[in-house]
Amino acid sequence: MTVRLYRTDPYLLEFEATVTARRQYEGQQAVVLDRTAFYAESGGQPWDTGSLSGVPVVAVIEHGGEVLHVLGAPLAVERVSGVVDAGRRQDHRQQHHGQHLLSRAFVDVANAATVSFHLGAEVSTIDLDREVTGEQMAAAETRANEVIWSARPVRVKTMSRDEAVGLGISVPSEAKGEIRIVEAEGFDVQPCGGTHPRNTAEVGVVLVAGSEKYKGGTRVRFLCGHRAVAAFRAGRAALDRLGLLFSAPLSGLSEAAARTVAQLDELVRRNRDLHERALDGEARRLFATASSSPPVIVGVYDGWPPADLRTLALRLVALGPCVALLGSRGDKAYVTLAQADGVGHDLPALLQEALRELGGKGGGRGNLVQGAGERAEALAPLLERLAASLRPPA
Ligand SMILES: [Zn+2]
Repeated sequence: MTVRLYRTDPYLLEFEATVTARRQYEGQQAVVLDRTAFYAESGGQPWDTGSLSGVPVVAVIEHGGEVLHVLGAPLAVERVSGVVDAGRRQDHRQQHHGQHLLSRAFVDVANAATVSFHLGAEVSTIDLDREVTGEQMAAAETRANEVIWSARPVRVKTMSRDEAVGLGISVPSEAKGEIRIVEAEGFDVQPCGGTHPRNTAEVGVVLVAGSEKYKGGTRVRFLCGHRAVAAFRAGRAALDRLGLLFSAPLSGLSEAAARTVAQLDELVRRNRDLHERALDGEARRLFATASSSPPVIVGVYDGWPPADLRTLALRLVALGPCVALLGSRGDKAYVTLAQADGVGHDLPALLQEALRELGGKGGGRGNLVQGAGERAEALAPLLERLAASLRPPA
């Protein structure tokens, strides 16, 4: 049985130990030690990382009743010097203890119990057994921070189940033997196997980062200590960039953004209107210049989307009996063929002929057909030739 040094000293980062067993875990080497300062993943808190005699420890898990140190490279020696990653350990102490305080604060302000906890790589979550309001969320955050800033001692004790139950501590039914209790003086007592600071002040600050309804309760995302500072920095950098973009101070940023969005909406509306008018004008111009009867109108454009060709074609045939052979050159060649009711050409056949030449495909039936091909350079002469075939001989 491995002696878990972190339980009595969560600040211990270096230790000596002996390898007592060698295992394989998911294709990687792992060792069991007689004693360890590495925290093995459990209770929502991830494992520690670090090294054993210079060999990276990539995971620490409880498996088959043993604490397995999963290694990133072979480890030859029996006596090892262990080093736990200090930054990760401190981060986990801050997040995990912040969770205890926030969970207790939710009990106090909203009678909401924590049913699960996950310490994530970026953000941590607690799941509450009921829905909480925004005011309750803010009150719990404030309460937890007051406890952090009052710098209360944090103590770890072990006691029998009866003793713990006698103190009013809710002990999980699966807990066996001695119960390990983590106490934030005068505020919270709960059974826990995780790594905690000596004093609530080490948590620094707890920030509720967001929440959502979850399984009839509430999932609360939160950040403590270093993570809260990093999140503030990232948020401030984003706001600074927005401030530059909108030429506004923080206090006027949302008004400036709302004003810009309103201006954009107006511009989009005007642009749509001008676009409609431009297509209308183009239709009238083309119709006026056509000569044969009924007019066979050719229009070739650069970079027009197929939707504009379609709109122009519909406007042309609405002006009077005519045939419209329209195309647009760009990354592809787009073709739209249309005719007014009663003109009577076989447009689908005409389109197939065009697409054979353009190397593409398309479809439609009756008086409006559209297609696209690869050979944009062939478009203009092709449409002129098709138009000539439709015009009555002079
Ligand atoms: Zn805990």
